[in-house]
Amino acid sequence: MAILIDGKKTSQEIQSEIAGRVSEIKAEGGKVPHLAAILVGNDGASQTYVNAKVKACEQVGFESTLVRLEDTVSEEELLKVVEDINENPEIDGLIVQLPLPNHISVEKVTDKIKPEKDVDGFTPSNVGRMALNWPAYVAATPYGIIELLKRYNIETSGKHCVVIGRSHIVGSPMSILMARNGYPGNSTVTLTHSRTVNLSEITQTADILIVAIGKPEFVTANMVKPGAVVIDVGIHRIADTSKKSGFRLIGDVKFGEVAEKASAITPVPGGVGPMTIASLLYNTLLAAEKKVYG
Ligand code: NAP
Repeated sequence: MAILIDGKKTSQEIQSEIAGRVSEIKAEGGKVPHLAAILVGNDGASQTYVNAKVKACEQVGFESTLVRLEDTVSEEELLKVVEDINENPEIDGLIVQLPLPNHISVEKVTDKIKPEKDVDGFTPSNVGRMALNWPAYVAATPYGIIELLKRYNIETSGKHCVVIGRSHIVGSPMSILMARNGYPGNSTVTLTHSRTVNLSEITQTADILIVAIGKPEFVTANMVKPGAVVIDVGIHRIADTSKKSGFRLIGDVKFGEVAEKASAITPVPGGVGPMTIASLLYNTLLAAEKKVYG
């Protein structure tokens, strides 16, 4: 049976480290980190995610500002809100919760965020800096995975890392990070996507398999090399009448049978998910301490 890579416990450790640093900042009379989040519309999942981020800020002692806008807000109005936050010296980090309504260009809004405050790591400046191995705000989900590999001492150098999925927020940055010259990194990386031929043959050669495909329980035991490290990014709600809530969460990996074969694996829930918020808080701390752009 594989070692369980516990994202919940690790994220709690990171959050208490951050809270410790906030106490020091306060004691030194410094400025407490301040995160602003913009939420457009009333999408239930987005509200849940933003509320969790605001609550996490409170727990580590950050200040937070939530700006809520109607889904009828114009692109111009939203860009103006971003600009105002860019110029507000009280605010260190800014995130715009996605998705945005169809009439608003995600690219335009992302590009408007000042790179120095882009704690989601989505702007071209931060993606470029990450690719160059310069100090950067790295997108929260890939950064959380890197931190898990590090804290579980997973050897990555010279390993074959296969990433399934090439989204801008997960798969693509993940492949760059695993190939970087450093630890975690120095892997030989194969980035796969929907046009990949013979996916299963490729995944069977992976020492580290990172799955961000967005398809419930897609990866089965026969796709996994014995002893592989398996990181499951997927999150899916499925109906389950035995649960009080009426649903349970599953990932992109068929956990039970893959855990039998892997050497280490992230569960869903409690794996990659909780790390995402810890990474966002960490980036906000970096922003407040001006550690990325100097
Ligand atoms: P996405 O944007 O939908 O990307 C999915 C990727 O999978 C695409 O690159 C797609 O290829 C590829 N793909 C689709 N079918 C495939 C196939 N049959 N074989 C190989 N590749 C295939 O998804 P995402 O935003 O990266 O998210 C992935 C999953 O992670 C979702 O379940 C999401 O909910 C979850 N997620 C979790 C967190 C967290 O904090 N835990 C954060 C973000 C996302 P093409 O590019 O060719 O279409």
